Parts: sequence; C-alpha cells; structure tokens
Amino acid sequence: MQLDTLYQEIILDHYKRPKGRGLREPYDAEAHHVNPTCGDEITLRVRLDGGADPRVVDVSYEGMGCSISQAAASVLHELLRDKSLAEALTVHDAYTEMIGSRGQGQPDGELLEDAVAFAGVSKYPGRVKCALLPWMAFKDAVARAAD
Ligand code: ZN
Repeated sequence: MQLDTLYQEIILDHYKRPKGRGLREPYDAEAHHVNPTCGDEITLRVRLDGGADPRVVDVSYEGMGCSISQAAASVLHELLRDKSLAEALTVHDAYTEMIGSRGQGQPDGELLEDAVAFAGVSKYPGRVKCALLPWMAFKDAVARAAD
C-alpha cells in the first residue's frame, strides 16, 4: 500500500468516526475559529486541571467543513487529551511546523502519531488552513484559559 493511501485512510477514518466529538462541560475556555476560504468552522473547548504543571483533561469540539479540517480536530483530541500542557504544546509546535513545511519536513512519527497523516497537506497551500484550523483554536483556547 502506498504511504499516501494509508495517510488518506487515516484522515477519512477520523472524518467518518471522529474521536471525542461534541462540546462537553465543564471547560476552562472556548475558541471559535473559521476558515473562510474553505467554509470550515470549529468550536473547541479545553479543560485543564489546575496544577502547577497543568494537564489537558479534555478537548471537546463541534465543527463542520471539509474532511481535512474535521479529521484534524479528531486527531487533535486523541493526541492532546491526557497530556501535560507542556507536552501538548510541544506536539502543537511539531504539527504546525510539519504543516508549514511545504512537503519538505521530516515529521516526528513518535511525537505526532496519527497526525503524520497530514504531512502531505503541507504540499497544498489551499488546504494548509484546513489542517491548522482546530490546532489554532486549541492554542487560542489554552491562552484564554491561562488568563
Ligand atoms: Zn477545509
């Protein structure tokens, strides 16, 4: 099987059977982001525990739009939930770097797990915003939660 085909299947699987979808309570902060070029929307909530080294207790979300944007939200939920906030932000940075790499990056599969499936998106400037949408909403929500 071609790697690209495998990656497409991972994305389609998350799109058809999204993990952790739905807005849940309680939560610390919410962010709503839109990608007007594609019509994608996401509302994302984060729940952190209040420790000195906070942990991401939950990431819940609701959205609509293309398969890439919606699958990206599902992967984000699966990847960042139950991580420390510091670890989640490390994964976030690796993901945004991969998506911004224009196909030149060497993504860290151990760190990014299913999210490496989005590496190919970096070759398509028109889809980059789709893949980043939920991740930008996550960063925004975390910044609000810290206020
Ligand atoms: Zn899109």
